[in-house]
Parts: sequence; C-alpha cells; structure tokens
Amino acid sequence: MNDFFVADEERIITPEFTGNDNDIETSLRPHALDEYVGQEKVKENLKIYIEAAKNRKEPLDHVLLYGPPGLGKTTLAGIIANEMGVQIRVTSGPAIEKPGDLAALLTSLNDGDVLFIDEIHRLSRSIEEVLYPAMEDFALDIIIGKGPSARSIRLDLKRFTLIGATTRAGQLSAPMRDRFGIILKLELYTPEELAKIVTRSANILGVGIDNDGALEVASRSRGTPRIANRLLKRARDFAEVKGDGVISVENAQNALSSMEIDELGLDMTDRNLLTAMIENYNGGPVGLETISALIGEESVTIEDVYEPYLMQLGFLTRTPRGRKVTPLGYKHLGYNVPLEDGEQNTFKNY
Ligand code: ADP
Repeated sequence: MNDFFVADEERIITPEFTGNDNDIETSLRPHALDEYVGQEKVKENLKIYIEAAKNRKEPLDHVLLYGPPGLGKTTLAGIIANEMGVQIRVTSGPAIEKPGDLAALLTSLNDGDVLFIDEIHRLSRSIEEVLYPAMEDFALDIIIGKGPSARSIRLDLKRFTLIGATTRAGQLSAPMRDRFGIILKLELYTPEELAKIVTRSANILGVGIDNDGALEVASRSRGTPRIANRLLKRARDFAEVKGDGVISVENAQNALSSMEIDELGLDMTDRNLLTAMIENYNGGPVGLETISALIGEESVTIEDVYEPYLMQLGFLTRTPRGRKVTPLGYKHLGYNVPLEDGEQNTFKNY
C-alpha cells in the first residue's frame, strides 16, 4: 500500500491500515491461495478463473474486490499476481493525481502484469476516462497539442490485469464497474477463521498460543484479520512480560481489557456511539450526520467501520428514518430496553 491515511493510532481496532502495521503486515501476508484463510467462495471461483486464463495464456480478466477495510483485498491482489506468475504494481486512487501519473504506471507494465489500485472509487473522472480504453483495448489515448490543432494518438499497452479494491462497490461509477469481468465480495470472517489466521501469524512471529487463546483474540477482532493480527501483537506483549510467553485465554483477556476492548470486540468509540444514541435520542432513529456530530467521527468512517460490525452483532439497524439501537444493543450496554409506542411503562427489563 503506497498511499494510506493514518487512522487514529490510539484506536487499536481501527481496521484501516496504520503506519504501525507496516512491520508485521508484510511478514504475515499469505502468498498463495492455499495459505489464504476463509473466503471459500471467492477462492473457489478465483482458482477456476486463474487456471482458465493460464491455460489460454491470457492475462486474467480485470478484478474488482470489495468489502470493508482490513479483510485481505491487498493480500488477495498479491496472491493473484503470484498465482499468475506475474509482477504487481501497487497504487491507490488518491495517489493518482494526474492522467500522466496513470499513463506512467500503465506504460511500465509488462505483459500479464497486475496493476492494483486500492480505493479505486477515489479516482477522479478524468483519470477514469484514461483508464477505460486501457482496460478495454489495452490502449492509451494521448492528446497532443492544444486548441484546434490538437490531435489524439493511440499508444498500445501490454495486456495487463487491473485489480481494483473498494470498501463499497456502490461508490464506484457504473461505467467503471461495468469494465470489470470479475467482481468479488469479501465478507467479515468468522471467529474460527480468524483463530486460524491468528495461529498462523503467531507461528510466523515465533510466539506460542493455545487454541483457546487464539479463539479469544479472534472473537474480539470484529471479523477483520488486520485487527486480529494487531490484537495478537498486544497479547504477545502481555504473554511475554506478565505471563509465561504463551498466549492463553487469560493473557489474551488481560491484554484486551487493558485496551478497553470488551468481550465482543467493541471499543470505547463503539460504546460511545450506542450510548450517545440511547442517552440523547432514546436509541433513535438518528441520522448519520447527527451521530457523526455526537461522537466526533466522520460519517464515512461510521458507515464503513463501526456500523457493519454493530449491525452484524445485531446492536444497530438502519431504517429509512435513521439508525436505531436494538434491544440487544441496549442490553449489551447495561440499559433497560424501552417499550414500543403504546405500551404502558416507559421501561421494561429485557
Ligand atoms: P485490505 O486490503 O482489505 O485492507 P489487507 O490485504 O491489507 O486488507 O489485509 C490486512 C492484513 O490481514 C494482512 O497483513 C494479512 O496478513 C491479513 N490477512 C487478510 N486476509 C487474510 C487471510 N484470508 N488469511 C490470512 N491473513 C489475512
């Protein structure tokens, strides 16, 4: 990842890439499809597409990967390049500022290479226009000169595979989306899958971990491998300094409680979000912008990072009039659940 924004470093469970991840992410990244845990449907399909493309001696069709941050899109792009036996160039939407930046990247590719564009929804329209003929015809249209004497020449490119990653496919323009032959959605991981990832990572880091310890870290990682690996690092510190060097449930729990991450993986911000909605708006419905103002987080961050997990846990729902805290959400935070309209008492025990 060449270009990333550094999220709040204090917030250990942010699924976005932060500078702190640099050291471990590289060493922990799986390099082959068989090492890539979970996402079975995606892997199954990719295996077929890769084999077919290799048999035809053609580059793989352009691939769009979408899903929340930290689920393994960059990793998967690297694996695809490895499995195809080609090089990968990595960039991101915001890093490509001028059409010339993209032209330079495209002309540097060899036959079959992968160009990975992270946050592809953030490409500007003028850059998208350059990308279309490149994706469709492997050609660059370059305008030479200005005014009436301007003319366009076409430059042939090597055949390449574009892999685009985005957190939300809906943010991508329709013409852009239509140019991807393969569109794959990554899902949040189950605790069992994350436990496998944590165990694999612990082996690479050379720290002992037992099955229950791995599951403990996994179940607090909000379905996200990046968070699981980050929590593992902190649990390793606890195991090494306060324990016997092996990550057990106890060590994992101590590490996680010290970071104020509760048994379901919620941190202070998640709890603030739900509490603010309950205390100020009787649990909602509350509009996204209002929630954003209440807790001081950007609305896109709330939509991409907090909501998917709170919704997966069943603590929050989206309604046409705004977000609502569910009875389960009330209960998790230790509140009594309010009665629906028309019921007699204001509160009932859940
Ligand atoms: P994204 O590009 O979706 O934000 P990344 O590909 O950067 O996510 O993944 C973040 C980290 O999580 C990587 O360093 C990698 O080690 C780990 N990871 C992601 N998916 C998997 C997986 N399926 N199996 C093992 N590790 C994974």
